[in-house]
Amino acid sequence: MEYVLGYRSPSNKKADKGTIVHKVLEILAYVKLNIQNKEDFFIDDIIGKVLVNKYNLNTIIEKVYNYYTSKFTHHEWEVKDYKDCHSWVYKALEYNNGMFDPRNRDIICPEQHFDIEIAKPWAKYKYDTSEGPLEGNLAIKGTIDLITRVDDKTMEIIDWKTGRRLDWATGQEKTLEKLQQDPQLRIYHYAASHLYPDIDHCMVSINFINDGGAFSICFDKKDLAQTEQMLRSKFEIIKNTQKPKLNKTWKCNKLCHFGKTTFDNSQIPPVAEYREGQVCKKDSYMTKCEQVKHDIELKGIKNVVAQYTVPGYTVGKYKAPGSAE
Ligand code: SF4
Repeated sequence: MEYVLGYRSPSNKKADKGTIVHKVLEILAYVKLNIQNKEDFFIDDIIGKVLVNKYNLNTIIEKVYNYYTSKFTHHEWEVKDYKDCHSWVYKALEYNNGMFDPRNRDIICPEQHFDIEIAKPWAKYKYDTSEGPLEGNLAIKGTIDLITRVDDKTMEIIDWKTGRRLDWATGQEKTLEKLQQDPQLRIYHYAASHLYPDIDHCMVSINFINDGGAFSICFDKKDLAQTEQMLRSKFEIIKNTQKPKLNKTWKCNKLCHFGKTTFDNSQIPPVAEYREGQVCKKDSYMTKCEQVKHDIELKGIKNVVAQYTVPGYTVGKYKAPGSAE
């Protein structure tokens, strides 16, 4: 619904509070990077000019908070939300005597964007679309919160999480053992190894500010083959899928925007359920998720992609974290 068809679900408040905390930590990483580069100031896209030796952290938090709360107007923002953001920033900075405070680190790159095409025969794809053939190679895209240097041969990726330490698909807690196989962390290592090929060892530290603190996983070049195998098998499953399986759980009509809403006629007319025994009651409108599933069965995925894609959206679009679009 989101990545292929381009539908957006409204962000939730907890995630937006995470964005605020991330932005403040990013600014502090730029403070340190500019000190390393012997610059006196830099211009941040949200808060403007920052003097690296004369800034007030509380003012930065306030400005970032005001910026995002003025953009994310679909929530009721309360004093408690500000207090949470403020305390989460300090928790991240003070953890283990400032171990993950970006100002105490040798910064390689804050907010490292990556877009890496995998130049292997297995990574090729080709689809016929209504606008002609779409072909290329699988590329992985994302943004790493922070990359720091430990020594000449070792880097440490730092990722902050303000939410629970849960695998939302299974509801199970993420343990150190599970994090070793976590796709996000492995992809970060894969991307960082391509961006910084001279660095052999990579720690990935994921810091659950509100749920257990930091967990560090070590990777080296030998891990790349396994990560690539993981990407390949997921990619092949997706490429070969003609009818995506619905993952129906209690979350559908509690948490998922596409399980709670129907199409509204602006682009796609809603379809009323005409069958018995479906998730939607007979004669009520199908949810967006169910209507798309219904149409895939009826018309095939290619026609559904052509009919349902949001006008102007292309499948390769990447929305950077912190973007308020
Ligand atoms: S409603 Fe359920 S099955 Fe459908 S997209 Fe949402 S989570 Fe997935």
